[in-house]
Amino acid sequence: MGRVVFIMVDGLRPDAITATDAPFLDGLRARSAYTLVACSVMPSVTLPCHVSIFHSVPPARHGITDNTWHSMARPVTGLVEHLKAHGKRSGFIYNWEQLRDLNRPGHLHYSCFEDTAYSMDGDEWVARTATEQIASAKLDFLFVYYGTVDTAGHAFGWMSEGYLQHVRLVDTLVGRMMAAGDADTTFIVHSDHGGHERDHGHDIPADMTIPWFITGRGIKTGHVIQQPVSLLDTAPTVARLLGVPPHPDWEGVVVAEAFTDSPEK
Ligand SMILES: [Zn+2]
Repeated sequence: MGRVVFIMVDGLRPDAITATDAPFLDGLRARSAYTLVACSVMPSVTLPCHVSIFHSVPPARHGITDNTWHSMARPVTGLVEHLKAHGKRSGFIYNWEQLRDLNRPGHLHYSCFEDTAYSMDGDEWVARTATEQIASAKLDFLFVYYGTVDTAGHAFGWMSEGYLQHVRLVDTLVGRMMAAGDADTTFIVHSDHGGHERDHGHDIPADMTIPWFITGRGIKTGHVIQQPVSLLDTAPTVARLLGVPPHPDWEGVVVAEAFTDSPEK
């Protein structure tokens, strides 16, 4: 069984990949199954989105609707907790501190945080740390969070030249880091939400539409995924890649169409 690395580029709009010269992510389309019209959740705000990703339920169910953590009224088993119950080792590398509560204590095998998401060069630390961890191949599942594209969106405006320049920088970092993966590593790359002007959180296409890529052995290449994909689908898809059945509480589905063994439509 291989390993899975899930890369989050916070605030990356899909049209930024094509509007700017972001050669790595643009080229990844030819080597992955992907969609540029995957869907965020409402509110399209970072912590609610991440709780949804890691628990495969919408904010209406988990109840976290802003960037302040509180415990869930009716807890849902998260991806990392579920993987641990199946003997899998998970790790987190992240530079935005609010994400520390995505897993209940006692489930991560490795966790590395540095408070760099608000520095424009802060994702270089993420890339460096993740490259080492990926190359060591010690974990079954690794979450790698890049926070600065969102910071650039808030500072310069989404799709502004300053934002797009920053997308190019992070594109390079992600590409360099992914080169550390071996043939047993599957990568999932997506964002949590988009943005417009200097904001996000609204139920409009600019905020709600995200890119979603998957690449690795047993995954189609150059394939545009036709099935609707949402943030809720990442956890069941990671589980499937690791040979673990989805948790019954999860509401998302495996992005089955991305797998080479899925029936052609
Ligand atoms: Zn975000």
